This record gives sequence, C-alpha cells and structure tokens, in this order.
Amino acid sequence: MRYAILSDIHGNLEAIEAVLESVRGDSVDGYISLGDVVGYGADPSPVIKILQSIKPRFLIAGNHDWGVIGAADISDFNNFAQAAIEWTSKILSDSEKKYLESFELKRVDRNMTLVHGSLEDPERFNYVLDAGDAFITMALLQTQLCFVGHSHSPGFYREDGESIKKIESAFLKLDLGQRYLVNAGSVGQPRDLDPRASYVIYDEEGMSVEVKRVPYDIKKAQDKIIAAGLPPFLAYRLQDGQ
Ligand code: ZN
Repeated sequence: MRYAILSDIHGNLEAIEAVLESVRGDSVDGYISLGDVVGYGADPSPVIKILQSIKPRFLIAGNHDWGVIGAADISDFNNFAQAAIEWTSKILSDSEKKYLESFELKRVDRNMTLVHGSLEDPERFNYVLDAGDAFITMALLQTQLCFVGHSHSPGFYREDGESIKKIESAFLKLDLGQRYLVNAGSVGQPRDLDPRASYVIYDEEGMSVEVKRVPYDIKKAQDKIIAAGLPPFLAYRLQDGQ
C-alpha cells in the first residue's frame, strides 16, 4: 500500500483541495486521516464532504473533533480553539457530527500505530513536540511505526538504542530493524513557520516516508475565516505558518 497521510485539516477547504490535487501525482492506494478534521477553519462541512468522498481507510479522532461532538472537555482549550469549536458545533449537521463520532482514538494495523497526539493516554491528546515526547510514545509503541499529528509540525524520529533522534530530512528510507515516529504535520494550519500545507506519503512496500508541502490559496481561506466571524488571529496565523 501507498498511503497519503493527512492530519489537522481543521476545516481548511483551500488547503485540502490543494493537497488532494498534489496527491494525484503520488499514485496512492488509500488515505489515512489522523484527526482534527474540523476546528479553526471556516469550511468544516465541505471538508467532511471531501473526506467522505475519498473514504480514508482509517479515521483517527483529534481533540477538536471530540470537542465539537462534546466528547472532550474544552474548558482547558485556549480561547481561539474554544471559539472555533463552539462555532463549528453550531453549523455542523447531526449526520456530520455522527461522522466525527465514528473516528477512533487509536488504531493498530500491521506494522503501524495511528494516534492523533501521543500514545500515552490518547484521550488526553498530549503533544509530541520533541525527542523527549517521542520517547514517551515510542516506549508504549508495539509496532515498527507510529504516525501522529496534533503538533502541526511535520518530522521524523528514529529510535537509536536507548535514545530517540530527530531526523532533519523530508524523505526517509525505513530500516526494517528500526522503529520510527512520523509526524504528518498539518494540512490546514501548519505551525513550523512554513505556511504550505503538509502531508506524508507512506510507501509500505518501498519502505519510505516523505513529507510533502503544497502551496494553497491562503488569502481565500483567511477571508472566509474573517467573514465567518471567527477570531481574526486564526486567519493571520495561516500566512506565517504558526
Ligand atoms: Zn490540530
């Protein structure tokens, strides 16, 4: 299988459309969604419609997906996230919420484990932001590979004896004898100072992972966020990738 792994789309229609256009050239067999399909962006319903049409093989739940359906306590989310979740919850239909409810917190399939945040209590949605966080998840990992999102920063970590090393590369050939954690970054709201949408191609047979970046119409996504009455900061941050 060759998978396109999408995470943190966050209701950004322009970003997901640009990513799917790019994926056409990647000849993939299927999709994986690592969660936070909605929240922040102005187009949660169109994004859900797109996901329903591409039918990801696995759909993992993010904290925003859970916030919108009332499964997560949002009182400790920041003000912008809370405002976006409340706005999203109002405009989604019951059947769209049912779709979010169908997402799994964690999935193990053959040599890979999928989770939105961290393997340590997945329902708490902890972040993997550095090698220390990656160590905690790798210690709980039962498979060769772990794919995560949530931090909105793409990257690879490799187990190296007793420690974990971050690998500064966009393409990585996987070694059978080693274990890896892969962060897919964010389609709809990158935070690694690169405003382009991020996704990952995982080639099971070819044993490789690759982070791809795609420019999209940021201005259009920003205008919609402002017009929807969502916090303007959620629009501004897109152009800086933070
Ligand atoms: Zn997110």
